[in-house]
Amino acid sequence: MTQTSKIRTPIVCVLGHVDHGKTSLLDKIRGSSVVDTEAGAITQHIGATVVPIDAITQMGGALSKLTVSIPGLLFIDTPGHHAFTTLRARGGSLADLAVVVVDVNEGFKPQTIEALQILRNYKTPFVIAANKVDRIHGWRVQENAPFATTFAKQNERVQGIVETKLYELVGKLSDLGFNSERYDRVRDFARNIAIVPTSAITGEGIPDVLMMLIGLAQRYMTENLAMSVEGPGAGTVLEVKEERGLGTTLDVILYDGTLSVGDEIVVAGHTQTITTKVRSLLKPRPMSEILIEEKFERVKSVTAASGIKVAAPKLEGVIAGTPLRVIRGENRDAVVEQVMNEIQDIQVTLAEEGVVIKADTIGALEALSKELDSQGIGVMKAEVGPVTRHDVIETGTIKNPLYSAIIAFNTPTLPDAVDALMETSASNVSIFEGGVIYKLLDDYVEWREEKKR
Ligand code: GDP
Ligand code: MG
Repeated sequence: MTQTSKIRTPIVCVLGHVDHGKTSLLDKIRGSSVVDTEAGAITQHIGATVVPIDAITQMGGALSKLTVSIPGLLFIDTPGHHAFTTLRARGGSLADLAVVVVDVNEGFKPQTIEALQILRNYKTPFVIAANKVDRIHGWRVQENAPFATTFAKQNERVQGIVETKLYELVGKLSDLGFNSERYDRVRDFARNIAIVPTSAITGEGIPDVLMMLIGLAQRYMTENLAMSVEGPGAGTVLEVKEERGLGTTLDVILYDGTLSVGDEIVVAGHTQTITTKVRSLLKPRPMSEILIEEKFERVKSVTAASGIKVAAPKLEGVIAGTPLRVIRGENRDAVVEQVMNEIQDIQVTLAEEGVVIKADTIGALEALSKELDSQGIGVMKAEVGPVTRHDVIETGTIKNPLYSAIIAFNTPTLPDAVDALMETSASNVSIFEGGVIYKLLDDYVEWREEKKR
């Protein structure tokens, strides 16, 4: 397929409850590269995998007839909410699209529900992979087949079970306020979420998941995607890592423009921006060159969307989840200011009266505050970092007893903060800790209801 316009590759995140099959799904998508030598080039990036459009259309899922103008899909390799909420870009999430994986035999679990809430907040289009269909008793495996092909080969009893399980998912989604349907019955993708039955182990239904993602990208995002692959690079730092012989490096997902060796870049530390020059850009070596001593291959330049390791001086202290921007031409001050704004501009609306929230990342803090906001609960203070003594003392001064609470997501409470809870001025303070936003909120709301009595 020839590429007519310069549309960048949409970025896809995989979310869902633990053990429902996120990693397996990504592995399967990556694995098909080995099989598909002709369509070839499913390339491994730093922190990501790119599946080119030819490889996808060749798998022959539903929508094969679609005229496709996007170059492929870039899957972020760190599955889970962490990647999703940490990776901000353009004031929203880095991901353009998402796949929510749910074990069809177990149904929705807390993290599935949380994933859905996060996606709703960010208005991110997504598909649901109703995974592990091969576990249904009596299932006959058709390796890597599109769902329609494999479904037709199942006996009536198995087909009946599939339908029943899907209806259960549709019902549950409806309770949560989402309209959904089996993907091949969806007429209007703007109104209905598509559910694709899959097996991350046998590969059944995977072609359809990829097709649905392409369809969503084509219909709802071409405008965003048309942004540019030229222009100065913009990306998000996925991880900050020490590499032998390279010093501190950044694993970056470049979502816009071009990044080249020698480019001046701006990245973000805790409180200030850091300006430096790209010394080298590194990609993982292809499997075939595995015997070569060096782990990475050096490249001169990359374009969006891609995952790349950046080596440069002064990278110690950069925070994961923050932006990376290329300075080119006269836009220097503006770019530095934008990065500064992005780190300051934690998109949390603070209320005069409310709880104190803490989280491990800016993205998580945002997700938590959005959820509180949607439930009409105010936030008085929002910060990245552990719960400190100062937080406890400050919360102790809150007059309204319903708000004398600290909600801490994925972040510890420091020992002296625990000690502070014993002091009389802070004796009314409660701390809610946890790794699931929706569970944290439930705990807080329950506590609040009890206080009201
Ligand atoms: P994650 O925690 O969501 O990343 O889940 P994993 O991908 O690690 O999968 C958890 C377990 O379920 C592993 O033992 C997988 O082999 C298994 N698993 C995942 N997907 C499927 C599937 O479609 N069919 C079957 N039979 N097992 C699966
Ligand atoms: Mg996993």
